[in-house]
Formats: sequence, C-alpha cells, structure tokens
Amino acid sequence: MKILNLHVDYIKFKPLKKALKKIADLAEHERKEVEVKEALVVLTAVEKSDSNVEKVVEVFVKNVREIAEQVKTENIVLYPYAHLSSNLGSPDLAVKVLDEAEKQLKKHFKVSRAPFGYYKEFEIKVKGHPLSELSREIRVEGKEVGEKYDSELSKEERARLLKSMTKNKTQSIPGKGGLKSNVELGKELDLYIINEVVGKGLPLFTPKGTSILRRMRRFIEDEELRRGYEYTQTPIMAKSDLYKISGHWQHYKKDMFVLDVYGKDYALRPMTCPFQFVLFKRKVRTYKDLPKKYAEIATLYRKEQTGELRGLTRMWQFNLADAHIICDEKQLEKEFEKVLDLINFVMKNLGIDDTWYRFSKWDSKNENNKYVDNPKAWEESQKAMKKILDKLGLKYLEADDEAAFYGPKLDLQFKDVYGKEDTLFTVQIDFALPEKFDLTYIDDKGKEKRPMIIHRSSIGAPERTLSHLLELTQGKMKLWISPNQIKVMTMNNSVNDYAKEVYNKLFEAGFEVELDDRNESIGKKAREAQIQKFNYLVTIGDKEEKENTLAVRIRGDKKIEKMTLDEFSEKLKVEIKERR
Ligand SMILES: [Zn+2]
Repeated sequence: MKILNLHVDYIKFKPLKKALKKIADLAEHERKEVEVKEALVVLTAVEKSDSNVEKVVEVFVKNVREIAEQVKTENIVLYPYAHLSSNLGSPDLAVKVLDEAEKQLKKHFKVSRAPFGYYKEFEIKVKGHPLSELSREIRVEGKEVGEKYDSELSKEERARLLKSMTKNKTQSIPGKGGLKSNVELGKELDLYIINEVVGKGLPLFTPKGTSILRRMRRFIEDEELRRGYEYTQTPIMAKSDLYKISGHWQHYKKDMFVLDVYGKDYALRPMTCPFQFVLFKRKVRTYKDLPKKYAEIATLYRKEQTGELRGLTRMWQFNLADAHIICDEKQLEKEFEKVLDLINFVMKNLGIDDTWYRFSKWDSKNENNKYVDNPKAWEESQKAMKKILDKLGLKYLEADDEAAFYGPKLDLQFKDVYGKEDTLFTVQIDFALPEKFDLTYIDDKGKEKRPMIIHRSSIGAPERTLSHLLELTQGKMKLWISPNQIKVMTMNNSVNDYAKEVYNKLFEAGFEVELDDRNESIGKKAREAQIQKFNYLVTIGDKEEKENTLAVRIRGDKKIEKMTLDEFSEKLKVEIKERR
C-alpha cells in the first residue's frame, strides 16, 4: 500500500462520474461537494501485496495516527488515489482495506472519505511546513503470528550452528615485543569470550571477568557517591524523537542500531545524555540545585564497522561510567578540575600510568555534517577549555576534527599492544545540548538562565579499561581487582579437610579464592596457578596442618612465608583496602 499524507488548510472534492463499472451508484447526498478544513488528507493506493487486510490496516492506522499526532489534527480525509501505484490490488480488496481503516481511524479522529472508483475533482491547499507532505509505503512483512520460526531450521543447519557455538574467537597475533593482547590474556585467565553465534563485538563475560567488572563498578559508584554524584537508571532505547531533539539522529544515526517497533523508529542508545536531561527537566531548577551531577553505569550501543571490532577495545555493546554535570558558568572551571582529580584518582588506584591527554577540537572545514553549526559557540567553548587546561598546567596534545558533535573534548589516550591509539576516558564541555533540550535554571536574581554541561566518564568503559589493564600488566593485576587472588593447594590427600577449612574461611572473608586438592604433584599445581597469575599461592602440607599455619608465596617471588590464617587474611584486607 502506498500513501501520501498532506497536511492541508482545506480540501474540497466532488465525485463526477464512475471510473469503474462494478462500483455502486452514489446516493444523492454523496454526490455533493465536500469541504474539510484543517485536515490530514491521506491519499491511498491499495496494492496486490496487501492481501493480509487486518495486518495492513493495523500498520496503516498506526502510521496515520503517528503523523496526525505530529501535525496535531483531528480530521482525517481518506482519499483513494490510484496513481500512487502501478501494482494496484482488486477493487474488492481496496474497498475492504478502506472500510476497515475508516472504522479503526474513527475511534480516534473525525474521518471523511472520498468515494472509491469515481473520477473526482478536487482543490487543496497544503500548508508547506516540513511535515506537511509525507509519503510512506505500508508493507507487511515476516510471518503470521503463531507460525513456528524454529521449524525452518533444518537438522543440518542446527548442527552447523551448534558446532560453531563451541568455537570462540580467541586467536590473536602477539603485540609489539611479543606482548600478549587482551584477547589472548582474556582466554588465558578465562575472563571473556566472543562467540560466533552470538556475534562479533558482543563479548560474553565469564564469572571471573564479571567479578572484575563488578569490583570496578562498586569502586567507582562508591567513590562518585562520596563526591556528590547522584545515580540514575535510564532505558537502553528510546524513540527516534528523543534523538532528533539531541541531534544524534541528524549527526550520528549511521552509528546507531535503529529498531522498527510496531511501525515506529526506536534506537538503542549510543549515549546517556538525553535521558539524564529528561530527568533534570522534571522539576523547575534554581541556582541552589547546581551543580547537578547525574551518574550512571550505562549500557551503550555503537554500530562500529565489523572490521573495526577488536576484543574489549571496540565493541557494539559496552558500559560507560558516564555522568553529566549541569552547572553555571562560574562553576565550570572548578567542576572541570574536580573531574580531572577523579580521573587521576581512578588511574592511580588502577595502576594505569602510561596515558596522555589529547585536546580534541572542532574543524570548521569538516563538510560531513559532523558538528553542530554554531561557529561562535565553538570558538568560545574551545577558548574556555584551553584556558582551564593551561591554568591547571596540564600537558596535552591538540587534535583537530576529533571533537564530539556538540563540543570540544579532553581525551585520555592510550595505546594497545599493537601501538594503536584509542581513548580511555573523556571530558567534554557542551554548549549545544542545553540549548537543544531547553535546559534552564532560575538564578539568584530570579532570572531564567541556561546552564553549561560537562559530559565525562570516570572509569571509562569498564570493559575497555579492563582490556588496557590486562595488556599493561600482562595479566598481573593488583590484588583488589585481580580475578585470581588466592590459590590454595594441597601437598597430599591427608590434608584435604584442613585445606577445605582454610578455603572456606577465605571465601567467607570475600576473597577470590580457589582450592586445588587434586591428586597431582605440588609442582604441577603451582605451575598452573602461576600461568593464571594468582597473586598468592598457599601451600598446605602435613607441617602446616600440624602447626595450624599456611605456607604463602607472593606472585613472582620465590620466598615462602609462614603465617597463620588470620595474619594472612588481615594482610590481604589491608592490601585491598589500600588498593596497592
Ligand atoms: Zn553525554
């Protein structure tokens, strides 16, 4: 079915004579001229493919309602217009579709209908705004409801898929100087997999990998709450309307996963900002509410080219420790400073020390519609950002044409084991979105003002940060974030009960601990534990059981220390607390 929607000041139409023989004669009153003012005229052509009347009408009505709501009209004129298609359905089918559509639309609108199968004269005045002329194709695709999809999967096809499900993409070439990549280390430490059947760019984290991400998350949430952030939880998708307001639809759509949900455009979110702005706008704000700092560990989706996808550095789905600081101009500098302080705190605790800052700027010559068109604001915000950076005495490199579409950024850059540069954390000053979302607050003189926004990530995308940590440490993570903290190993079977007791106590104390009580040599057990980069190896033999002690070895150290379980546990707690 093809339709053309016209938002009109008025339409006048009058049937003249029959165009199809089989059509019934019109009654006297139906032959008169009809005029409808302020209406959405829907020119329609029912096609051969519209045989599923119920479904076609459902989608058609949904489309018409959506447009009528956008242009805010209560009057619909259904107007058969054969010239829209060269593949018309039978008159019977057309009448059936139009009858049903009229019935459905009448539940919501005043509906007028021009007769089918007649030559008509008509006069029309179209309004001429951007939404006043919209053509759509109504297509019903896919399966009937209730049809079984899995019946299509042949035995061979299922077997092939199940076989490829057991193959995980973990092959990876060594990096510079033979360094292992995060893909390789992820496999060695059993942290995550990329599965062919699930899809590239969509990592699945094992319990160990998830445990690291959980600790990162708790760490950053606690720290941010202490620093005055408030946490939100917002949806992973929204109607295209929201992204049209933000400009993502215009500037970023090709990088978004767009979904057709019951005939409406939705998209998985690439950023958190619009959602938190909606929350900010739920109340009237005054200068006393500022700075407002909304944080969220948000799941985001970005449609990277499949060739660009790499381990945990480039993914289709990832999380971002995101936040938006809504402040006034006077607070901007101080808040920016606080963000940098938080980032430094995070890096110190993670033990990341090989990054550098990049000041990412706008390029006035970029012709790809990449940036918000407001040269004056660009110049001003870049000047403001540069002033802050210089005042803080921060060393940075400048990069043209790397800004976000709404403002300049300060990026914290790193290189992976192949020497490829990427961004770990980012801080952005935004002048465009407060305007687009009409964010306001009342200042101390009672006047309405426009706030500024800092977009920032603190621990970045935890997945990507983990990937850098893995490569930087080659898997030898600090105790607080390590997936493999303690391995308890038995010398012989006679100490199994004591070893189990030690394991239980360490587990209950909250450590990431494993027990190896297999009937293998202690040498073999220790070698395996070393490959898995356990921070502590605890050996238990007859002597330890008798003395009620542990033989403890630190990762990378040959020396064995004797200590009690309490001493060991206390030592580890301090190490974790201080994040050494
Ligand atoms: Zn943002």
